[in-house]
Formats: sequence, C-alpha cells, structure tokens
Amino acid sequence: GGSASSSTIKQVKLDKESELRIEVGNDTPLRLRLLNGNAEIFGTELPPEIWLTFPPRLKFAVFSWYGATIEMDGATETDYVADETPMISYVNVHAVLEGRRSRAKASSDDSESSQGPRVIVVGPTDSGKSTLSRMLLSWAAKQGWKPTFVDLDIGQGSITIPGCIAATPIEMPIDPVEGIPLEIPLVYFFGHTTPSNNVELYKVLVKELAGMLDRQFAGNAESRASGMVINTMGWIEGVGYDLLLHAIRTFKANVVLVLGQEKLWSMLKREVSKSEPIVDVVKLQKSGGVVNRNAKYRQRARSYRIREYFYGLANDLSPHSNIANFSDLFIYRVGGGPQAPRSALPIGAEPAADPTRVVAMNINRDLLHLVLAVSFAKDPDEIISSNVAGFIYVTDVDIQRKKITYLAPSAGELPSKFLIMGSLTWLET
Ligand code: ATP
Repeated sequence: GGSASSSTIKQVKLDKESELRIEVGNDTPLRLRLLNGNAEIFGTELPPEIWLTFPPRLKFAVFSWYGATIEMDGATETDYVADETPMISYVNVHAVLEGRRSRAKASSDDSESSQGPRVIVVGPTDSGKSTLSRMLLSWAAKQGWKPTFVDLDIGQGSITIPGCIAATPIEMPIDPVEGIPLEIPLVYFFGHTTPSNNVELYKVLVKELAGMLDRQFAGNAESRASGMVINTMGWIEGVGYDLLLHAIRTFKANVVLVLGQEKLWSMLKREVSKSEPIVDVVKLQKSGGVVNRNAKYRQRARSYRIREYFYGLANDLSPHSNIANFSDLFIYRVGGGPQAPRSALPIGAEPAADPTRVVAMNINRDLLHLVLAVSFAKDPDEIISSNVAGFIYVTDVDIQRKKITYLAPSAGELPSKFLIMGSLTWLET
C-alpha cells in the first residue's frame, strides 16, 4: 500500500531452510514484509505483515526455517534465493552455547563454572564474522539471555564509530534495520582504523576493555551466565594473527569459531591445545551470501557510520555546532608524539617512541576534520585506562581568535575537557 507504485512490488516464496539475499540499490531504500510463514534476518524474526524499510546499499538475507512468502517493494542491486546455507551448522553452535549458559546459570558457586560461554569469532575479511556474531547474539537474546557483544573490529565495527573497540549488553534480538542500540556501550578510543598505527596501544585497550567487563561480570550473575560474543578484525596474518591470540587469551575465550579458513583453524587449534581450561576451536563454513567489500566501499561505510553517529540513520538526530576557546579544551594523542631529541638522551641511547605515552597537543589547523573522543578521564594520566563518553567533529579552527568550532551530538558543555585525537577524519557530505 502507501505511496509505492504497485508495479515495483514483487512476491518471493522461500522454501524451508532457504534465504533471499538482497543488496539494496544505491539510491533508494527498499521496503519489505513477511506475508506468511516465518522468517528472520540474521537471527531476528520478522514481524508478520509490517513493512520494514531498508536503507540504500544494505546487504542482508531473509532466512526461513520452515518456509515463508516475502513481499518486496523497490529496486535492488541484486536479489536471489539460495537454498544452500550454513545456517544449520550455525544454529547447532547456538544450541551448544545455550546448554553452557544453562549449566552456568544452574551452578550456584561463584567460580569458573558460573561463567557462560565466551565465544570469539575469527576469520579473514568478508567471511561473515559480524553476521554470525549477530545471529548468535539475537538467538540468545530471544531465549531471554543478556549476552555481551564485544566488537574488536576498529575498521568496520557495529557498536559505535570506527577507530574504537566496544562492548554492549544485547537484551533483545538486534533490529535488522537499526542495528545495535547505541545507548549503553562501553567504548575505548583507539583513534585509527587499522591497528598497525599503534599495535601496543591496541593491545592495551583490549586489556582495559576485558578487565572492565570482568569487573562488571563479577557483580552480575545474569551477564556472566549469558557470556560474550566477540567479533574480531579480518587481519589474520602476522601481527594480525598475534592480535587474535592476544584477544583469545585476554578475554579468556573458551569457544573459538573460525569462519572460512582451514589454515587459521588448524593454527589456532594447535596453539590453544595446551590451554587450561579447555578452549574449543570450531571450524565453520562461510556463507555463500557474504558480500565482498572493497577498500572504497569500506571507506565509505566508515564515513556513513560517523555520519550516523551525529545525524542518525534516518537523519533523525540534530547535532549542535558549538564554539569553544582554545584554553577550554585539552587535546591528547597517545604515542607517536614528538620524541625526545637525540641530544637530550644519555650517550648511546636511541630515541624510542613510547606507544602508550600520552602527549598534550597544541590546537592548530591540523585538527580540522578530525573526529575526537571525549574521555571520561579525570586526569591526563587516566586517558588510556578510561572509556569515552562520545565524539566531536572539528569543523573550524580560528587561530586568530583562538576559537575552535565543533559538531557534537548535543548542545551544552562536553562531559569532559579531555579530548583524544588519532588519525580518524571525516568529510561531511
Ligand atoms: P570484515 O571482517 O571484513 O568486517 P565480516 O567477516 O565481519 O567482514 P560481514 O560483515 O559479516 O563480514 O559480512 C559482509 C557483508 O555481507 C555484510 O554487508 C553482510 O550484511 C553481508 N552478508 C553476510 N551474510 C549474508 C547473506 N547470507 N546474504 C546476504 N548478505 C550477507
């Protein structure tokens, strides 16, 4: 109904255990609804008959366990039905995790046994890691658990803007259009979209996040029993591989799901076989529906994510442009700052950049178009160990008048004067 012209409406019948794979067109949204039967999008059931609107460029699948009829209205880049999917193997993993959650809940003592599964999803880029994480979380939430989603992917994360690692409890199946609610995430700002900018800092932040979650879990039996699902980056070679091992150990993961790569599975299996307590390393097939995204697409997706933070998915937020005096803000950068000159060092010593040194920055035109994080730190010493309240975007630096103009989610004072900069930029379009 509505304003849509009926000529663009089409019905698709899904047999049991098949899925409709869709890439929404570049310019116009797509409307879709479930006419009859049951169907889900990445683990979240579709309500019957209600039209849902999907934004341009979104790539997703509508899967049916028992058969369904779907109605679509609008242009797509592609849409086709596939009857070969790895969904049975994915839901089997879910069933095993459910068993562990129930056992954790039933165990009365406060020791290891009351800890539910800590699942980490690993694999190359475009193997479907984020998608599998999402399904496992939504299926668990549907059964009434409150699993914690941890996203370590600073390039294409799904909790907050790029350049961050973050965690959030998932209390309801994830909305197929809106994604993860942004209300209560725990966010640490790395400031770059690839860890190679500062590997040491990345590790330190992963450790901070894991420590914080451990403390939160200690007082929350429900979260502890529900466990976590940890999404990782697609960088699996060399330092990327070391970072995976670091994440597995730091989060004390007890289930490692390896998507789409035999070699990675066998390497990780050998590596953690000596671990105590036991870590299960499970190999899973990659879905044929996962869409490859090139560097340009990824860059654009990052830019849309930042836009979404300030303006909302449907332009439904109104950020405020604020002006501050240089003297009101304190901007820091971690690592990579100016090093001690050779002349200031003892003879024979090499100037070494301390990757976790917090360096105070002067305000100048270099800040233009940077996205800065607003730290919860009360003191510069706490910058690395503190999570962040949110982000601002620098739109003008007036050297003469010593004023800085920035976009923030709302008007009024920033929650803190301590800002962190990295290399994360954005060009408002
Ligand atoms: P990366 O590590 O590079 O961030 P990833 O391994 O996490 O990628 P996903 O983000 O899960 O991969 O998937 C890549 C894209 O493919 C996403 O846009 C996702 O929505 C889409 N996709 C995943 N599975 C399907 C499917 N079965 N049908 C259609 N699209 C899918």
